[in-house]
Parts: sequence; C-alpha cells; structure tokens
Amino acid sequence: MTCSYEEFAARADAVRARIAAACAQTGRDPAGVELLAVTKTHPVEAAAYAARHGLRGVGENRVQEGVAKRAEAPELPLRWELIGHLQSNKARAAAAGFDRIQSVDREKLLPALDRAAAEEGRPLAILLQVNAGHDPAKFGADPAEAPRLLDLALACPHLRVDGLMTIAPLGQTPAETLDLATRTFSALRELRDTLAARTGRPLPELSMGMTGDLEPAVAAGSTQVRVGTALYGTR
Ligand SMILES: *Cc1c(COP(=O)(O)O)cnc(C)c1O
Repeated sequence: MTCSYEEFAARADAVRARIAAACAQTGRDPAGVELLAVTKTHPVEAAAYAARHGLRGVGENRVQEGVAKRAEAPELPLRWELIGHLQSNKARAAAAGFDRIQSVDREKLLPALDRAAAEEGRPLAILLQVNAGHDPAKFGADPAEAPRLLDLALACPHLRVDGLMTIAPLGQTPAETLDLATRTFSALRELRDTLAARTGRPLPELSMGMTGDLEPAVAAGSTQVRVGTALYGTR
C-alpha cells in the first residue's frame, strides 16, 4: 500500500467533511450519503483500511480483480460492489463474487444474472447504469432505453433493482466539468423520479459522484458517492 492507515483515515475524514458540507448546503442529512471506497488497482489492504474506518462497502471495476481480493480477506465485514463494465461471459462470476452489480447497462445481461442469482440461491442486488450525460466515451444505457431495461429487470425474479448509477462526462475546463456533472446528476435523479412514479418501485439508490464531482452529485440527490483517488491517492 502506498499510504498508511493513518493517512487513509485522515483522507476519509476529509471526504466525509466534503460530503457533510455539500449536505449542509442543500439541507440534506449526511447519513443519507454512503461513502463507497473504490479499491480498484490497490491491494487488499485498501479494503481492510475501509473496513477498519467503518465504511460498509468497497467498489471494484474488474470482476477477476475484485473476486481475487475478496478471497484474500473473506472476513472483512464489507459489501463488495462491481462498478465497472461487465462482459456477458463474466456475468456468472460477477453474480457469485459481488453483493451488488452497479453496471447493468443492457438487456443481454439480465437473463445471465438472473440465472446465476438463482443458482446462488439468493436475490442479487443491481443498479442500472445510465449514460445520463450522453457521453460517447462512457458505458451505460441510453436514458431513452432505461424504461424498457427497468421493466425487463423488474421481471427477473432473482434480481432486486435498488436504483440507478451514472458517471458524468469530463469537460474541457473545471467550470465545464462542474456544469456537465450538475446536469448529468440532475438528469439521473429526474429519470429515477419518473421511473419510480411509472413503476411504483422507489428505486432509492442513486450512485453518483466521484472524487472530482461529489459536491454536485450530493446536491442532486446522490445516496452513494464512489471515491477512490481522494482516499488512496492517484492510481
Ligand atoms: C474509478 C471509479 C471511481 C472512483 O474514481 P475517483 O476519481 O478515483 O474517485 C468511481 N466510479 C467508477 C465507476 C470508477 O470506475
């Protein structure tokens, strides 16, 4: 590990303070925003630090890397979440190795995940990843396809749809990046509200915001920010 636990704890406190300040600005309760520690590319100690600090979940973006790390420290009281692109041929391994899959972005994944969850004998929690910023460089369902994707997911008996996830596009300048983030996160929240009203499902989780854009995400209603760099340093 490139940082000590003490350094990590100080950084985590600083991230918590950022979340609290963003909540104060918008009249939100900080307890409504979870900090998910993104441990990708870091050794298993990164996950151990998160658990020791009282965080409840870690995010990994590759199936094999996440599964291997988890196997090194199965005793850690953590939820392991897949936040990276999922190939269909890895759906089985992802369903077996993760507690929640945030990157469900196309119909084709649903039957494979549903079948795998059935074999695991437990419901599998998922989020639908939506490309709410219409960024050609990002994965995620087109917002226009989200209603159909949601209907199909809700019809899968072994999947539990917790909500939506997105990644905001990067702008050319910090001001443009902030503006794009604000618009992307508001769009995801509005989409969630529309889908919840249409289906009668609350879809409570809005996974949005990272190191660079957690403030606009919290302002727009994020319930989970996924933070790597601000906790562990640059990758
Ligand atoms: C890497 C990653 C993050 C964390 O990004 P940082 O900028 O390091 O905080 C969040 N979400 C996803 C989907 C990622 O791949």
